[in-house]
Amino acid sequence: MFQKILIANRGEIALRVLRACKELGIQTVVVHSTADADAMHVRLADESVCIGPPPSRDSYLNIHQIVAACEITGADAVHPGYGFLSENAKFADILAAHNITFIGPSGDHIRIMGDKIEAKRTAKRLGIPVVPGSDGAVTDQKEARRIAAEIGYPVIIKASAGGGGRGMKVALTEADLEIALQTASTEAGAAFGDDAVYIEKYLEKPRHIEVQVFGDGAGRGVHFGERDCSLQRRHQKVWEEAPSPALNAEERARIGGICAKAIADLGYSGAGTIEFLYENGEFYFIEMNTRLQVEHPVTEAITGIDLVHEQIRVASGGGLSVRQEDIKFNGHAIECRINAEDPRTFTPSPGTITHFHTPGGLGIRVDSGVYSGYKIPPYYDSLIGKLIVHGRNRVECMMRLRRALDEFVVDGIKTTLPLFRDLVGNADIANGDYDIHWLEQYLAKEE
Ligand code: ADP
Repeated sequence: MFQKILIANRGEIALRVLRACKELGIQTVVVHSTADADAMHVRLADESVCIGPPPSRDSYLNIHQIVAACEITGADAVHPGYGFLSENAKFADILAAHNITFIGPSGDHIRIMGDKIEAKRTAKRLGIPVVPGSDGAVTDQKEARRIAAEIGYPVIIKASAGGGGRGMKVALTEADLEIALQTASTEAGAAFGDDAVYIEKYLEKPRHIEVQVFGDGAGRGVHFGERDCSLQRRHQKVWEEAPSPALNAEERARIGGICAKAIADLGYSGAGTIEFLYENGEFYFIEMNTRLQVEHPVTEAITGIDLVHEQIRVASGGGLSVRQEDIKFNGHAIECRINAEDPRTFTPSPGTITHFHTPGGLGIRVDSGVYSGYKIPPYYDSLIGKLIVHGRNRVECMMRLRRALDEFVVDGIKTTLPLFRDLVGNADIANGDYDIHWLEQYLAKEE
């Protein structure tokens, strides 16, 4: 087992990882920017190293500084959290070259899944159902027209290097195709330095359903069921739940089994999430994330398994603590992402939190790095906390969520709490009846 883990992140996820390390008796080092000297993870860590000024590229993305911090403190492993360097293959390779363990998959697996064309090809080869579309990059209009006619309109043009929902264009008919292909490719080139794009069928009313997987790196793979993350705004998840209100046990076992086998065959190591669009009873792979997700706690709530413990165990060579048959699903869980944003316009609302009171009681978990008197720096993303609620079934979970939202107090800044108080009283949400467009349509109506 590791003696000392360096946590290369900030905010709630740095604290989340720190807690797991403490439970496992592992010493912790955190790195932080000058803007985060007062952060909770810095206060609670055994050691901390300031690695640079506020901008992420000079601190949380500064590989040389982070490697130096490992060497100074004698850390033998790095947990990257999510975002920042968590899906940076070069970072994983550099750590390996310094004999420091990256708590995550190999650089090669990160590289494959970071290239969406390659990821889709790999998924298909491993028997995962994919969205019908081009086999690789599409460059000329004639080929694009042929493929689009074959799969049928509408189609979507996506950037191979895409991320965060950028570089996508929908073509409803052949008349839109030429412009869509051109603009997607130009935008991709400008945003990612890679103009390769591919075509796939555009699904009109899908849900976003993702499967949590784990590999031990030695040919064993398991799945921890799915999460439904269909409630999104600008492709950013807002509310996540497990299990999905749309799946039955047979579908869960089928798609979970396919994913677990794929992970085993790939020889994958650590945590991963295989993301699908789901429509009319069919699953369509869109991408794989090779890291821990923001929404992992809903899976922890219904399985009772600490996924960060598992990541650390697997990375240290100790293997998974569970076999597939040990993983049981119990009840229902919902996560609300509480952002420091105006709940109507979603503009960021940094500033000082004058009062912070979190709800408690059975089935309530709050993962947050903030506290009363904390000043939210303007440099990073606006997530200030996650409320995760568990109940024996979805009805009990929703009742408990409504009560917890009423108890939650964040004064001094604007937050998205009022949005969740609205959603929890909405009939479609109560019925689990929503797709990936539902939230934006709802917000447009409210305006
Ligand atoms: P990114 O890595 O940029 O987040 P994804 O491939 O995960 O890109 O897609 C992000 C979102 O774009 C999906 O959650 C979905 O809302 C939409 N999307 C992507 N592909 C399709 C498709 N084939 N049909 C309909 N919507 C899609």
